[in-house]
Amino acid sequence: EDGGIGRTVASVCCYCGTGCGVSLTVKDGQLAAVDGDASHPANFGRLCSKGRTLGLTVRRDEARVLSAQLRRTRGAPLLAVPLTTALDAAADRLADIIRRDGPDAVAFYLSGQLLTEDYVVFNQLARGLVGTRHIDSNSRLCMSSAVSAYKASFGADAPPCSYEDLDFADCVLIAGANPAYAHPVLFRRLEEAKARRPGMKVVVIDPRRTDSAELADLHLAIAPGTDVVLFHAMLNQLVWDGLIDEAYVERHCEGYLEAKSRVREFTPELAAGVCGLAAADIVQAARWFGEAGAALSLYTMGLNQSAAGVDKNRALINLHLACGQLGKPGAGPFSLTGQPNAMGGREAGAMATLLPGHRDPDNAVHRAEVAAAWGVASLPAGPGLTAVELFDAVGAGRVKAVWIAATNPAASLPEQAKVRAALQKAELVIVSEAFAGTDTLAFADIVLPAATWPEKDGTLTNSERRVSRVRAALPPPGDAQADWQLACAVGTRLAARIAPERAHLFAYTAPADIFAGHAALTAGRDLDYSALSHALIDAQGPQQWPFRQGAGQVRLYTDGVFATEGGRARFAAPAYTPVADVVNAHFPLRLTSGRLRDQWHTAARTSLAAPLLRHVEAPALSMNPADLARLRLAPGALARVRSRRGELVLPVAAEEAVRAGHAFVPMHWGRAWMAGDGVNVLMNGALDPMSRQPELKHAAVAVTPA
Ligand code: SF4
Repeated sequence: EDGGIGRTVASVCCYCGTGCGVSLTVKDGQLAAVDGDASHPANFGRLCSKGRTLGLTVRRDEARVLSAQLRRTRGAPLLAVPLTTALDAAADRLADIIRRDGPDAVAFYLSGQLLTEDYVVFNQLARGLVGTRHIDSNSRLCMSSAVSAYKASFGADAPPCSYEDLDFADCVLIAGANPAYAHPVLFRRLEEAKARRPGMKVVVIDPRRTDSAELADLHLAIAPGTDVVLFHAMLNQLVWDGLIDEAYVERHCEGYLEAKSRVREFTPELAAGVCGLAAADIVQAARWFGEAGAALSLYTMGLNQSAAGVDKNRALINLHLACGQLGKPGAGPFSLTGQPNAMGGREAGAMATLLPGHRDPDNAVHRAEVAAAWGVASLPAGPGLTAVELFDAVGAGRVKAVWIAATNPAASLPEQAKVRAALQKAELVIVSEAFAGTDTLAFADIVLPAATWPEKDGTLTNSERRVSRVRAALPPPGDAQADWQLACAVGTRLAARIAPERAHLFAYTAPADIFAGHAALTAGRDLDYSALSHALIDAQGPQQWPFRQGAGQVRLYTDGVFATEGGRARFAAPAYTPVADVVNAHFPLRLTSGRLRDQWHTAARTSLAAPLLRHVEAPALSMNPADLARLRLAPGALARVRSRRGELVLPVAAEEAVRAGHAFVPMHWGRAWMAGDGVNVLMNGALDPMSRQPELKHAAVAVTPA
């Protein structure tokens, strides 16, 4: 239809939360090129290795789920069936379970890779039609500690910064993050800013000497899980040095005296012992932060994926409040989202602890507002089960049916043996998936073929609160449909069986209509983008929220007024909680996991792009050479890694970047790609008490020759 001369489609990369704009060239019905979109404000044309190779992941063959599949009984093989047969079967079986066991016997487990429009329809299906509280997302594994901390400290779930703050910062704290690998385009921007302004100080807080740490003026190779102690010691030093912005604290904050009293005992000397750092380095980091004209912190999973994730986030936010370091160019606590649309899922409220427009399922007024907008009598009250708890409930038989969309929990959740046993035990597992061969598909009773990038149309929101249009460049292959269409198709059928008066929830014909209803629900809320529409973004480009009087807001809290009841930001005074998994003589090593530069999540997509395997071909257990020598393990030899939950056999690699007593495994490989288990077999499902995010980043392990 392009007449052989090609057409270009502006869209967004489907990997990380940077949200880079891409320009797609379609020729003769094929995707001919993927280039950076020079007009997109997230990347100005730049792409990383993953974005540049996106075209190689576009497949229309056996690498994709091309048709629906069904098995009549567990143990029987999955057989290809017409899509309508699978949709009918899904509706029949869900209706039976709801009638027999009630709505909370059904759960939905979604993904930060869905578009906002997909999230909206799944939420209407779960809460609006089925009436279950149990709808959560893999964003629970990613951002929920950051969400809880923003809400507790500032009164709203809103990253207050923008990418342009990288250009203006005088001191950048990178905590529990490796943006050189996980957000490469942002990291390149930071490198350039530092080259332009050599006075900028970069402090990297990470147990390993990562590629991000190579840029650092100071690398704090912290012992896993001790971040609260470090941040408290930095606050202690700021108090000691008189670097507190007393006027800011007085005017805009509460709880400072409790925090000050809490950190009194956390001297740099004490922290040095707990964190495995030099006291002088802690003092230096505090002084650079406190003396900076503008101080920015960037953080991700090293803080969030922890049983004390909210405490770590809040102790870091304390530093910004104490020094008045937010609401101005180059300053603020900036949580970088891991996934492309973790933000959109939060905005659409398709999570166990949220309702649309950052509303609260515990709040009767909020539930009534959403119910009225959706045209239903009521919504289920209270939060549902979060990711880890949801699969525990499946294993315990309390949840009978789970629909898993665009995610691979049989590889990505901690305590894999438990998760797989739960999926095995479930009465009904529906999986909507684009890529064949994922670990989770092995447990499906009904497989629905899903469209994926670049076949989908809708919106996503990146880390800097910017809503962009994702546009389809190709039609989906085979019987595949967009997730919102699959949810509408099952929803329509299920409504006919259990609640015909709710069939209107699925009367959508285009993503623009879904977005319009969703945007209207943000009116008057902290994220208000009720004035946005697909048409407006098409005409004026991506926009940040809140979007009022025709403009998006670059940074939040510029007036020092916060979204809390009294308008004041809240200091926190958390105690130090050590890692959940105790290191002892049986499990003497501290294992952490993380990303590689050229792979993404469980590699369902990136494994299709051969050049991406050149960076690192296969997983290895990285350890300090001294530890390997002590264990008589030569590089490349196979080692058995045991935790309290499982074991893996992997080749070892010698890396000076890994401290003695520590070990590291990349997170990407699972059973489907390497005919073996991934690192999450070893990892811990201990939850943060507030965010319910699991401690995916640390396990105590023993290593022996295999
Ligand atoms: Fe895609 Fe992230 Fe790379 Fe940008 S930085 S091209 S969004 S993976």
